[in-house]
Amino acid sequence: MLLSRFPRVSLAHLPTPLEHLPRLSKHLNGPEIYVKRDDCTGLGTGGNKTRKLEFLIADAQKNNADVIITQGAVQSNHARQTAAAAAKLGFQCELVFEKRVTDASKAYMESGNVFLDQLFGANIREVAKGSDMNDEMEKVASEIRANGQVPYIIPGGGSNPIGALGYVDCVLELIAQANERNLVIDSIVHATGSAGTQAGIVVGAKAMNSNIPVLGIGVNAPKKLQEEKVYKLSCETSEYMGLSGLVKRDDIVANCDYVGDGYGVPTKGMNDAILLLARLEGLLFDPVYSGKGLAGMIDLIGRGYFKNQRNIVFIHTGGATGLFAYHDLLSTK
Ligand SMILES: *Cc1c(COP(=O)(O)O)cnc(C)c1O
Repeated sequence: MLLSRFPRVSLAHLPTPLEHLPRLSKHLNGPEIYVKRDDCTGLGTGGNKTRKLEFLIADAQKNNADVIITQGAVQSNHARQTAAAAAKLGFQCELVFEKRVTDASKAYMESGNVFLDQLFGANIREVAKGSDMNDEMEKVASEIRANGQVPYIIPGGGSNPIGALGYVDCVLELIAQANERNLVIDSIVHATGSAGTQAGIVVGAKAMNSNIPVLGIGVNAPKKLQEEKVYKLSCETSEYMGLSGLVKRDDIVANCDYVGDGYGVPTKGMNDAILLLARLEGLLFDPVYSGKGLAGMIDLIGRGYFKNQRNIVFIHTGGATGLFAYHDLLSTK
């Protein structure tokens, strides 16, 4: 497997640190917890989409595009990192937002990620909850073409085989770090949404024959749907890399018991997890993804899910910029 075969631009600060969390580990009285700091990728306050964008933006350049189009929720971390990447490499950026969160506060609609999108100069359109987002992006692409420009559509979350290469790369990086310090990783845990992160991680972990189980904590869809989505993209990604047949259905495990009332709706477990990490380790996690991912990992440790495992790596996928959009919904007590 040679990732350098794929066009790539440099956007992220790599390698991201792998940090031990001694105070959290002691508090939970379970396995040792490490975080892979992909919240520190560096582009526009960082996060997991930056790794995907290194490959996606390179593909946009290869296609001679001059306008990047993508979509997400109003507080999309993916949209914010895409807006920053577009600015850095001289693309116009068009963002289509689904008003996925109903009864949203003023802070949700104006602060956090969406404020940064505006700073990065992206053009923003909002469409109703439940809109066909691929359709909506196609409409924008037609306008761009009619204007004599070349559009490049990045799917929601940057999740296609090209974007997932970013997380194949992340696993190579993580395994090198583990080997360097003689760390045996017994599990990788992270928040899973549009599936590109988990698909890339699973493909990389399998391609390296690392034998590390990967657990995605869902933030949106029910388990079966989430696992099917990740499985499909894992197969497409391994095929794209010339490694078809690499991933088996059993390699894909998602736990979707921590979604609560829905995407972007706070849960008590998430709130508690955010406070715990802030106060024990001085780390910031987000309400929509990494906070729910952590809540899942913490609860599962308590239930003995990782028993006999010594070391767990939680991939911190970022998102803390979204805290400012949620400050009125989160308790600091
Ligand atoms: C997008 C995102 C995820 C989920 O990654 P997917 O590749 O969409 O599954 C997790 N955490 C944060 C902070 C994100 O922005």
